[in-house]
Amino acid sequence: MAEVTMDKIVSLCKRRGFIFQSSEIYGGLNGAYDYGPLGVQLKNNIRDFWWKEMTQMHDNIVGIDASILMASKVWEASGHVSNFSDPMVDCKECKSRFRADQIDLNAPCPVCGNRDCFTEPRNFNLMFESHIGANRDASSTIYLRPETAQGIYVNFKNVVASSRVKIPFGIAQIGKSFRNEITTKNFIFRSCEFEQMEMQYFVKPGADEEWFDFWKEQRMAFYDKMGIKMDSLRWHQHGEDELAFYAKDAYDIQFLFPMGWQELEGVHNRTDYDLSQHTKFSGKKQDYQDPVTNERYIPYVVETSAGLTRNVLMALCDAYEEEEVNGDKRTVLHFHPSIAPVEVAILPLVKKDGIADMAKDLEKELRSDFTTFYDQSGAIGRRYRRMDEIGTPYCITLDYDTKENGTVTLRFRDSMEQVRVHKDDLVKTIKEATKNYKRK
Ligand code: ATP
Repeated sequence: MAEVTMDKIVSLCKRRGFIFQSSEIYGGLNGAYDYGPLGVQLKNNIRDFWWKEMTQMHDNIVGIDASILMASKVWEASGHVSNFSDPMVDCKECKSRFRADQIDLNAPCPVCGNRDCFTEPRNFNLMFESHIGANRDASSTIYLRPETAQGIYVNFKNVVASSRVKIPFGIAQIGKSFRNEITTKNFIFRSCEFEQMEMQYFVKPGADEEWFDFWKEQRMAFYDKMGIKMDSLRWHQHGEDELAFYAKDAYDIQFLFPMGWQELEGVHNRTDYDLSQHTKFSGKKQDYQDPVTNERYIPYVVETSAGLTRNVLMALCDAYEEEEVNGDKRTVLHFHPSIAPVEVAILPLVKKDGIADMAKDLEKELRSDFTTFYDQSGAIGRRYRRMDEIGTPYCITLDYDTKENGTVTLRFRDSMEQVRVHKDDLVKTIKEATKNYKRK
């Protein structure tokens, strides 16, 4: 099996309209990407898959959607204004900039090859800063949020007061975050504008370790449900040097990307740090009163923090395969049917004698249940290849027999197996196949 490289993923993404470089006609903008017609559908499907899993499948998790712009005090309280920085060095010769922890400072510059040319490491704050209102002074400074979690913490009291949630409970949120990343290589892996899917679970102090284990297990199981190869996922526990000073324990789920094992999601025991900080900085108690015992305490938080856009990259890398079929090469994306941007393709084998019209009618019928695509141009083998390459799990062909007895051919992407099904049974058959889907 041919190796999956980032170049192949980038090229497929551009060719088939998954992901484009931002502002490409102006030479592109580093660290920013645009999602094309298939990319936005894939991203929305992963987003919805996570949202359903976290809010609908648990009876004690509610959602919020906080604004990207927040009071600057929030970022002082969270520690981002003073601490959210990476040490960086510049090459004095070619002016390239690197994260000091990502290169060997004793080796030659990876760009120009000169030796002993790095500046001393300096801290570089990752938050994008702007100004709000008419005046540009210190009091008008505003930040683009570098994580979605703080929007959850500052709404903790609002949610408790307005919903019927009782500890232990969670608040989930999906949204954009921004970080002025120094090193933005590896496509959408690390970008300056990205999306996160975060859930903060509020628990009684003392119950935190049990919930931490619970969420670790749940989050790994999620990727299994999403059809990701489990061999490509592993846990990485934060060592002393990686652990945030307030965190009690932290694990990352890592995925084997083409450039190696890298973080996909973090599961962190953040203790009562965030709510205590907001109590201190806002002067408003961020505590919880147990409705039965009347006991008051500041809850501990177990956080699950995943990158949505990083999940998109993982889904693409995991799904990508080049196969030999009867001496021919086929590129196929083995997406789980629930996240595939197109679920069902309708392909008439002949256009004449009303068969194309029948196919168009069938496509309209299936639209309310699936994302569909109609294609009547070119040889059937080529049409199948085009659908394989974007990860369409089901292809339906219509022929003269369809006219005779109402049956169609249903082809499965992974096995390429074809079965004859009556068109009235298609919705049921496809839904069942999706429910029972197993990644090969
Ligand atoms: P790193 O150490 O790689 O910079 P981090 O540990 O700071 O990342 P977190 O703050 O824990 O990352 O963010 C949670 C999740 O958000 C990450 O697991 C990742 O999936 C995603 N994420 C963080 N930064 C970026 C980025 N620049 N681009 C895309 N996704 C990101």
